[in-house]
Amino acid sequence: MLVLVINCGSSSVKYNLIETEGETEVCSGIVERIGAVTSIVKHQPNNESVRKESKVILNHSEALQEIMNFLLSPGNHIISSPDDIKAVGHRVVHGGEMFKDSVLIDDVVKDAIEQAFDLAPLHNPPNLKGIEAAEERLPDIPHVAVFDTAFHHSLPPYAYLYGIPNRLYRRHKIRKYGFHGTSHYYVSRQYYKLSQKSKNQTSVITCHLGNGASIAAIKGGESVDTSMGFTPLSGLVMGTRSGDLDPSILFYIMEKEELSLNALHAMLNRHSGLLGLSGYAADMRDLISEAKNGDRRCQQAIDVFCYNIKKYIGTYMAVMNGCDAIIFTAGIGENSPQIRKKSVEGMENLGIVIDDERNEKAVNRKIEKISSDSSVVDILVIPTNEELVIAIDAAKIATASNQSPWV
Ligand code: AMP
Repeated sequence: MLVLVINCGSSSVKYNLIETEGETEVCSGIVERIGAVTSIVKHQPNNESVRKESKVILNHSEALQEIMNFLLSPGNHIISSPDDIKAVGHRVVHGGEMFKDSVLIDDVVKDAIEQAFDLAPLHNPPNLKGIEAAEERLPDIPHVAVFDTAFHHSLPPYAYLYGIPNRLYRRHKIRKYGFHGTSHYYVSRQYYKLSQKSKNQTSVITCHLGNGASIAAIKGGESVDTSMGFTPLSGLVMGTRSGDLDPSILFYIMEKEELSLNALHAMLNRHSGLLGLSGYAADMRDLISEAKNGDRRCQQAIDVFCYNIKKYIGTYMAVMNGCDAIIFTAGIGENSPQIRKKSVEGMENLGIVIDDERNEKAVNRKIEKISSDSSVVDILVIPTNEELVIAIDAAKIATASNQSPWV
C-alpha cells in the first residue's frame, strides 16, 4: 500500500512516500522555512539525487500543495493520480494520556491533539496544522495519527509519577510521557527479529542518540522506563537541550541572571546541551573534530554526553535485572564509534564488552553487532526508521486489519 508520511514542524513539512508491502521508500523530501521570504524545497525520488529549489511557500497548506504537485508531475514518474496514495500517516509528538496506539483521525482525535497543545506547545500545534493541510489536499483517504508518546504508555505508575503533590498529576496530568516511541519500538523489534529471541523473555536498552536523544528500557516488548519525561527536555544531554537538572538551579539562575520565563525556556531548550557546554556547536561531528584539535570544552561536552548515557544504561540494567542487548541508533548512535565506545567503556563487570574493530566498521547504515564474543550483553547498531513504522501503522489502520507485521 502506498502511504504518505507527514512530519510537520512550525516552519517545515517533511514527507516520505512509502510502499509498505516491500517496505521501500518511493520519494522523500522537505519544505523548510515556510513563511520566510524564500522557502527551501527539496525532493528526492528514490535512487535519484536531491532536487533543491527556492520558492515562496506561505503556509503548511501551500507546502502540501507543493509536495502533491511534485509527486503528480508526469515527468517525475512517481504517481499518476492522488488516488494512488491510500493513506496518510501523521507523526504527532504528544498524545497525552489518551492515545496508547495510533488512531484514525476524526474530529474527536483532532480535539484531543489540540487539548495536548499545552503539553507540547512547540510540536502539537504544527502537527495539527499538517493534518488539516493534508486533509484538505487528500480528503478522500484515511489519515492516521501516530504518536511519539504511545509506545511508552506501558510505563508503570512508579516510573511515570514525579515526586510532587499528586494533585498536580490529577489536575494537570504532570507525569513522565516519554518520546521517540516509534524509534525505540522499531529498533527493539528489529532486534527480536534478528536474534530470534522471544520478546517476552528479552530485555533491551535502546539508545536513540540524535540531536534529540533518549534511552528506553524495554522488557517483554514493552517500554518500562525512558529518559525523556513530561516534555522532551529531560534525560540525556542533547544537542541544545539540557537534559536532567536539579530543579533548584532554575530558581537560582532566574534570580541571578534576571531571566524571564521565556528566556529560561529558550536557554534550556536552545542554548544548553552540547552547544551550551562546549560554547562551540550542537553538532557532534563538529565537537569531535574540535576536541581532536585540543579544544577542552568540546571534549568536556562529549564526556558529559557519554557519561549520562552510561548512567542511564546502568540504571535501566538495575530496573530490568540485567539486559540482553544495548542498541545504538539515530545520527550519533549510527555513525559515531567513538561515542558508542565511550558510552559503554568500563562496564565489563556488568557483562558489557565492545569489540573495537567491529565498532569502528559499523558506520554504513546497516545492522551490525559490535559487542565482542565475550560480552554477555549484545551491543548493536540498528538504523532507525520511524517513517516506516508510521507508514505501516497507517496502512494497518486504513485497512482496519489487526495483523500488525510488527511482532
Ligand atoms: P539526528 O537528529 O538523528 O539526525 O542526528 C543528528 C546528530 O548526529 C548530529 O549531532 C550529528 O552531528 C550526528 N552525526 C551524524 N553523523 C555523525 C558522525 N559521522 N559522527 C558523529 N556524529 C554524527
